[in-house]
Amino acid sequence: MSQKASRVRLLDSGSCVIDQSHITWNVGCGNPVRFPVYSVLIEHPEGLFLFDTGFDRDLVNEKLAFELPQQTDEQTIPAQLRLAGFATDDVDAVVNSHLHFDHCGGNKHLTKATTYVHVDEIREARSPEPFEVLGYADTSWDHPGARFSLLSGDVELAKGLHLFHTPGHTIGHYSLLVEIEGRRPLLFMADVSYTPAAYAKDQQAGFHWDPVAGVRSIRRIKQLAKEWDAEIFFTHDMDEFNTYKLAPDCYEA
Ligand SMILES: [Zn+2]
Repeated sequence: MSQKASRVRLLDSGSCVIDQSHITWNVGCGNPVRFPVYSVLIEHPEGLFLFDTGFDRDLVNEKLAFELPQQTDEQTIPAQLRLAGFATDDVDAVVNSHLHFDHCGGNKHLTKATTYVHVDEIREARSPEPFEVLGYADTSWDHPGARFSLLSGDVELAKGLHLFHTPGHTIGHYSLLVEIEGRRPLLFMADVSYTPAAYAKDQQAGFHWDPVAGVRSIRRIKQLAKEWDAEIFFTHDMDEFNTYKLAPDCYEA
């Protein structure tokens, strides 16, 4: 009988800065906020899965220097995997919540992995609307050796590894719920809403493809959290991030 995930680790990718008004769409202008970026490594009997891959420091310095990226050599994907006891070639599957630069910057290191991404997301990232060009500024995930498995709708990728299509922030945005043997499930909403304060008010980031879909996705996450009695993880909130266990530490039964 197939088993659920045994262990989840958060891989620290460093941080960037944006204005508060981007985090809470038009509210709080003129207040720069440093926000964390991290990835989620899942040890599962069906393979080693990585949900998102952080940002590439050089790319951000080149194309989005105003975000003031901070990333040490120890915060790159290869170094974080080593810290967790793995090599880049050990990763079987990369799952991108979406293809914004701070969620796919490490894909290029994971040459043995299949990349799982929403079919509409890959199309949009290859040909973005004018207002999405900066968000999709890192195209290094689309390297010649990349093998894609295109998804749509909700998907159980492996036993207890659930992807929920939560569009709004981007067209093909996925959130992840991980069931772990003997423990509450973990719910990673990715960029559906950035912070606990924003989430409480159904606020989404100023970067979005469809804000109405975005509001529905926030409400869907709330419903999922209740149904599954899941522990919620926020993607881009420094205060929350500072309470999370980071690799090599882990979440397990
Ligand atoms: Zn994003």
